[in-house]
Amino acid sequence: MSSATVPDIQEIVRQVIAELRGGPASDSRVANVRPVAKITANPARSFVGNYGIFDSVDDAVCASQEAFEQLERLGIDGRRKAIAQIRRISIDDAVELGQMEFAETKIGRLEHKIEKLKVLGERSPGVEFLTSEVFSGDHGLAIIEHAPFGVIGAITPVTHSLPTITGNAVSMIAGGNTVVVNPHPSGKKVAAEGVRRFNQAIHRDIGIDNLISLIAEPTLDTAAALFNHHGVKLICVTGGPAVAKAALQSSKRAIVAGPGNPPVVVDETADLDNAARSIIYGAAYDNNLLCIAEKQVFVVASVFDAMMAAMVRAGALRLTAQQVDTLTDRAIVMVGEGSHRHFAPCKDLLGQDAALLAKVAGALPRDDLKLVFGETDLSNPFVPTEQMMPFLPFVRCKDVDEAITRAHESEHGFRHTAIIHSNNVRNMTKMGRLLDTTLFIKNGASVAGLGLGGEGYLSFSIATPTGEGVTTPLTFTRQRRCTLVDDLRILGSPD
Ligand code: NAD
Repeated sequence: MSSATVPDIQEIVRQVIAELRGGPASDSRVANVRPVAKITANPARSFVGNYGIFDSVDDAVCASQEAFEQLERLGIDGRRKAIAQIRRISIDDAVELGQMEFAETKIGRLEHKIEKLKVLGERSPGVEFLTSEVFSGDHGLAIIEHAPFGVIGAITPVTHSLPTITGNAVSMIAGGNTVVVNPHPSGKKVAAEGVRRFNQAIHRDIGIDNLISLIAEPTLDTAAALFNHHGVKLICVTGGPAVAKAALQSSKRAIVAGPGNPPVVVDETADLDNAARSIIYGAAYDNNLLCIAEKQVFVVASVFDAMMAAMVRAGALRLTAQQVDTLTDRAIVMVGEGSHRHFAPCKDLLGQDAALLAKVAGALPRDDLKLVFGETDLSNPFVPTEQMMPFLPFVRCKDVDEAITRAHESEHGFRHTAIIHSNNVRNMTKMGRLLDTTLFIKNGASVAGLGLGGEGYLSFSIATPTGEGVTTPLTFTRQRRCTLVDDLRILGSPD
């Protein structure tokens, strides 16, 4: 055939792809992205343009399934691009979104709301975690790959509404999944705004909407509908005892990031000034809202008074015994009925500033005060309660064995987080073994356990009762093994 009659194959391909995408061909997009516009399982029910915001659980799951199928076709590169958009917004919009979260939830500290988003943008684990394993032997090869589950249903807490969604979204999408979130009602607006921004940017970049979907008016009923929806393949909950229990009782596989009550032990070998600075930093971070934050401190008697002095030197305000009693009466309440009756933090003071706690206690707060503390005995309700406010009870113990035993009791077997300040390796080991926690931090602030001042990556969902630990993309994958018998292995003698 002459060149005049030979069809331009590339031009035809470009036109076909353009038609499939419902728009004019663009060379760069054709090169980088496979067509997605017509991939949806049922185009009549397409939810493009929702940008992740839904009234109904059913629509959200359906849109999420569509998005999952589209993501699958873009491979790892599509996931990488989606995550890059989430991380970029997390950093670029951290101030605005942090302010929104603070204004809506009215708990914690603004600077930490902002920092949590920024750090997620920098240190949330992505597709690089998805390494395959290979077994190679006389009988050939076996490759284990990490495949997505599909649509994940997530429940998120008020203590870090958007940060939890952000970390979950990065890990879940890196694993190839999509997610439908039922946020805490008191943090639903910032959650929706973040989700909308993420989806708009991802849609602009790779042409997929609704990788992250959210129920705009979340209730316990919508949470239950999400748990039970046949399209949801995996559940991930982050929250307190009630939601952790509900998820553990669900018929679906659940990743459960449950409550904690992290104890601190200070022994006679500790660097007390470092211990004091670390305890203040960790316990005051976001006004003690973090599940890993220091909640009660057990100090060996021989250094107890010196430790209290070190806390004051490091900037915390010590309350008198009477002031501690006054604060306890106001800050801790009884909730529940019958055998379920237990202590809980008073909602008015949860996540509030140390200065307010000082005033409530009848003490004179200083400007820039971050933490108040005081000596209590074991029976003070602050010891067993996850207070989530910047007051710490300090309990005097006769020796390190008593301190470790008391720490163990106060943790309630959550196996979440524990901290020790010590230079005695035996004491560290003893405590680590007995408490058996998911995070165990030595000679640093609790937040070092999430990579803030320590090593490692960051996620605000730390799966405790179900054992996955600080969640990563691998947490949200299932193993698939592919075996090739007797071939492809290049070692061995030729036939
Ligand atoms: P919360 O338990 O009150 O609420 C968490 C979420 O669960 C919310 O979305 C809420 O609406 C939902 N929920 C509550 N009961 C439910 C039920 N029966 N069924 C379905 N959904 C239900 O907790 P919170 O005050 O938002 O957050 C603080 C708690 O979360 C603390 O106990 C803290 O330790 C824990 N937390 C744990 C982690 C972790 O990684 N392990 C991280 C952050 C917070």
